Amino acid sequence: MQTNFSLAQLADPKTADAESIVRKCVHCGLCTATCPTYVTLGNELDSPRGRIYLIKDMFENGRDADEETALHVDRCLSCLSCTTTCPSGVDYMHLVDHARIHIEKTYKRPLANRLTRSMLAMVLPYPGRFRLALKLAALGRPFAGLFDKVKPLKPLAAMLRLAPSSIAAPSSFAKPATHAPAAERRGRVAILTGCAQPVLDPGINEAAISLLTRLGVEVVVSPGEGCCGALVHHMGREEQALDSARRNVDVWTRAIEDGGLDAIIVTTSGCGTTIKDYGHMLRLDPAYAEKAARVSALAKDITEYLSTLDLPVSEAKGMTVAYHSACSLQHGQKVTMAPKLLLKAAGFAVKDPPEGHLCCGSAGTYNIMQPEISARLKARKVKNIESTKPDVIAAGNIGCLTQIGSATGIPVLHTVELLDWAYGGPRPKALDHRPTA
Ligand code: SF4
Ligand code: SF4
Repeated sequence: MQTNFSLAQLADPKTADAESIVRKCVHCGLCTATCPTYVTLGNELDSPRGRIYLIKDMFENGRDADEETALHVDRCLSCLSCTTTCPSGVDYMHLVDHARIHIEKTYKRPLANRLTRSMLAMVLPYPGRFRLALKLAALGRPFAGLFDKVKPLKPLAAMLRLAPSSIAAPSSFAKPATHAPAAERRGRVAILTGCAQPVLDPGINEAAISLLTRLGVEVVVSPGEGCCGALVHHMGREEQALDSARRNVDVWTRAIEDGGLDAIIVTTSGCGTTIKDYGHMLRLDPAYAEKAARVSALAKDITEYLSTLDLPVSEAKGMTVAYHSACSLQHGQKVTMAPKLLLKAAGFAVKDPPEGHLCCGSAGTYNIMQPEISARLKARKVKNIESTKPDVIAAGNIGCLTQIGSATGIPVLHTVELLDWAYGGPRPKALDHRPTA
């Protein structure tokens, strides 16, 4: 794509990066067919190519973001399906990240939208605040229908509906500790506890830590570690996201220097995509660039790391798993086969639901901020998954688990919970009403 940036504009390394991304696009439009918002809304401006034009125009003309650009960029899920499809290797992720930052800085959103975004940014990344908010949401749920009738309050209605009816007690596995290997030592890793996952489903990291230690891996939960910054990063809140990244880089750098790490394990793929990008996010910060690149290189999805441990083949479980490939895992990290191969080796029959490339509509805070598009994507996703007639649904991202779990009666579990069970851990409680293996 031809661009028209001035030399002065290109002197800014971030603008130069954006320009080189835009230039790679050859307008072929192949990405439109796999973009969930284009498939749902049918508007070119809600396709990757349309958004690239809007972003190019905004940056080329050095102008503030306008309502149209904000609308169509806000509707992007950052699912990155377009990056998997694009034959030219357009790095849409970094382009849209840069655009979101510019929009956040230069566009004044309507008041209700601003307040909702600020509230999400102040609550979600902090487990204590998030836990309290979920308790309040349980009280407010009867008013969801009322909020639904007022357009600017629809995100509040979506939030109330998504909140679980019960919240598990905080897990001791979320506290800083070193979990010793329970077999001959095979390695040493840190694990991300993060923010929302330990509140919504503490059993996921419990399963991961139990499985890893049984396999002979020492697991460190580092003191001071917290939200990876993905939630605010996708809102364009650059400084808040970079603060989170720097804090985690410092924490894990200490862990690397104090005993070494073979990997930094992430059980929420949305966070994994962001941590793997810390090196890029902090590339212009001389104090952090090198450390951040080292942390990113160590970040591994739990299934990527387990694949390196050469697990034994286990007996058949008589259970069919529909594997939902989270966008952040398949498109963001290009981890596609490892989860399915692990589940198969652990004795599960694995099904690939149709349209597996399409997002479930969760996408961080998307299901709150864009509830109508999100609901349409969720219904489509659940229909496709249920068509495989599974006993259980597995995925590697808490956002997807919550989104899909809110629309189906089939148990929805993290992949590692099934693997933990297959290799000697407890049977997940969510399976209690399913046929016993
Ligand atoms: S990231 Fe997803 S929603 Fe956004 S343009 Fe690409 S395919 Fe479409
Ligand atoms: S597939 Fe790639 S090159 Fe083609 S229009 Fe989309 S982003 Fe541009």
